[in-house]
Amino acid sequence: MNQASVITRFAPSPTGYLHLGHAFSALFAQHQVWTAGGRFLLRLEDIDTVRCRPEFAAAILDDLAWLGLHWDGPVRTQSEHLDDYRSALDHLQGRGLLYPCFCTRKEIAAEIARSGHAPHGPDGVLYPGTCRGLDPGERQHRLDSGQPYALRLDMREAVAQAGPLMWRDLDAGVQIARPEIFGDVVLARKDTPTSYHLAVVWDDALQGITLVTRGNDLFEASHVHRLLQALLALPVPDYRHHALLTDAEGRRYAKRDKALTIASLRQSGHTPIQVQALAGFIPLAT
Ligand code: GLU
Repeated sequence: MNQASVITRFAPSPTGYLHLGHAFSALFAQHQVWTAGGRFLLRLEDIDTVRCRPEFAAAILDDLAWLGLHWDGPVRTQSEHLDDYRSALDHLQGRGLLYPCFCTRKEIAAEIARSGHAPHGPDGVLYPGTCRGLDPGERQHRLDSGQPYALRLDMREAVAQAGPLMWRDLDAGVQIARPEIFGDVVLARKDTPTSYHLAVVWDDALQGITLVTRGNDLFEASHVHRLLQALLALPVPDYRHHALLTDAEGRRYAKRDKALTIASLRQSGHTPIQVQALAGFIPLAT
């Protein structure tokens, strides 16, 4: 990879205020381009219309600027581009890789309990594939009657079409993609015409990201992302997954911990440099 051309990003979801863990992640992403002179972009991943709120988005931008982060170009806000993801879904649909899933959470849980077979993936128990095997007449009837549905990727078929794939984590090395560990992931939710996996892959390509940096809780998600890049003929960035910042007791910071939000640290008189240091960053910009 040519260091001078590094384009990286920070992509928070505005479902709460930024905490020290986010500050670390943002500084980590920006740090990748500081020395090489690349570009650092910002994206608001706000497709979850129930949990995301504009006041959180505004606070995130304000906190990042206060922390001393400078991002290049305009902020991309996913909710403003929902039509973009449609073309990706159409492409996958054209390859016969999507199917409508009408299941509710309750029905999925009941089906798992009934089958007594519950393989686990990184996000919990895998979808049992109920709607993949739906009778075509029944499927059409449900579509015609306006029953809400999500779109799931037929993982087995997708893996067969894509063939063997690899991706590169700059710390962990070359990885053989294993997207099948997630089962039939949702690519369009019932309430939103996209999903995290689809939107992140599409936007990373659209924004020309060459190095994806994020917490290691999303390491496995990169397997699915590599598959989608192959199916959609998108460029393949490099990856770095950093360890998640933990508190004194070794617990990951979470949005529910109000005390260590950047907002509360600001209120209690901390300076940006002090917060950078608390987030585990030796301040470079002194
Ligand atoms: N929006 C995701 C989050 O806040 C991060 C996605 C990513 O960096 O790929 O957890």
